[in-house]
Amino acid sequence: MLTLHSTNRNCPDVDFKTALIAGLAPDKGLYTASGYPRFSGEELLGMAMMGYPELAYTVLSRLIGDQLPEAKLKEVCEDAYDFDVPVVGIPGENVHVLHLDKGPTASFKDFAARAMSRIMSYYTEQDGRELLILTATSGDTGGAVASAFHGVKNIKVCVLYPAAEVSERQRRQMTTLGGNVQAIAVDGKFDDCQALVKRAFADPELAILNLSSANSINIGRLLPQSVYYFWGYFRALEGRVAAGALDPAIISVPSGNFGNLMGGLIAKQLGLPVAKFVASVNENDEFPKFLQSGTYQKVEPSASCLSNAMNVGHPSNLARIVDLYGGTMDHDGKLLKQPDMDRLRGDIFSASISDEETRFIIEAVYQKYEHVLEPHGAVGWGGLRRYLDASGSDAPAITIETADPAKFPELIQEVLGIDPPLPASLKSMQKKQEAYAKMRKNYTAFKDFLVEHYAH
Ligand SMILES: *Cc1c(COP(=O)(O)O)cnc(C)c1O
Repeated sequence: MLTLHSTNRNCPDVDFKTALIAGLAPDKGLYTASGYPRFSGEELLGMAMMGYPELAYTVLSRLIGDQLPEAKLKEVCEDAYDFDVPVVGIPGENVHVLHLDKGPTASFKDFAARAMSRIMSYYTEQDGRELLILTATSGDTGGAVASAFHGVKNIKVCVLYPAAEVSERQRRQMTTLGGNVQAIAVDGKFDDCQALVKRAFADPELAILNLSSANSINIGRLLPQSVYYFWGYFRALEGRVAAGALDPAIISVPSGNFGNLMGGLIAKQLGLPVAKFVASVNENDEFPKFLQSGTYQKVEPSASCLSNAMNVGHPSNLARIVDLYGGTMDHDGKLLKQPDMDRLRGDIFSASISDEETRFIIEAVYQKYEHVLEPHGAVGWGGLRRYLDASGSDAPAITIETADPAKFPELIQEVLGIDPPLPASLKSMQKKQEAYAKMRKNYTAFKDFLVEHYAH
């Protein structure tokens, strides 16, 4: 089972439950696992035909099975994963698209948020306490977290989003729920929202609020994100796996805060055969530059791109990735100890895809394969192509689609001239009343708001 340490290595190790409730470690580092169990080849072959909830249970029980009752974890997985996870083959290519966009908010963040809310609710109920979840979102986290926690007992949610950087539908997913969900529109960028949240967590005067995070900062978000890598692998390589082969695959991950990629790296630690991850980013190219040069420099301010959920100039999970490869990065992005760059480059390739390329890919993939990608998925596709061209590899490849095209109707209409069909989950919020607070990127104002609304 997992022991977790802080990436800053300046506080005691904890178990999963403690890390989940705390969110951030007391030394401001991120909790991350000190080592992972490993599935044998035989065990992997035995998991190949499982349905998604059973696969989730199998992977999660190996990681945190000592942290909640078996029956509870099973119930969490069945309740959280009651939607489709299609893996679509691209005709004539050795490429599959793993669709993580069929959950209730049509974003891959549903996978983590739904499991996490149910586990957290179990713990708060058990301990008889209340939590306030603070979350900064660049677009999709907010909606997924709000939906996952909406109506959950003992937990309130406060979501901060950059007022001018989210689409109308993304905003509505946060502002139409009400009840235990409060949305705040911040006059600034995602990084400003994240800075406010991080500062609140570090503020001793706010300890009375029992703050917790549901960001990709939280370890509870990451572990469930390792499951769909197994799922995608087993579907995409079905024939080979049925014949008993576990060939290494290439997996391209559209990346912003690198929580999705970290889930993939965890899956690899658990034994999933992955030849290469492609960290596909938009014009925020701090990571590919880091891989190339070994020198890390954030992009400040972050570039505003079409794939708006990936407009991140300093990925919060980078500290975890650096840690996994033997280095240390502090919360400002300063490298205190260089990771093993050779091993890092061996496992991960990274490519930056411009907005111009993103549009081109959406159009070209539709023309050639009649497959509609939205901007995040298009960045993933572009990164994969870049890697395949550079390496000449013919290994089976998977690229991840993280949102439904219907979340970007104006862009899809402009590039393809079609209206992507609206999933039922998104339809229902179109007519609901919106409610949200407005705030400048000012910590004192934010703190006053929190105290006024939540201290009692
Ligand atoms: C959050 C998000 C991403 C980026 O995921 P990270 O885990 O932050 O790297 C990509 N696509 C969509 C649609 C998202 O919502």
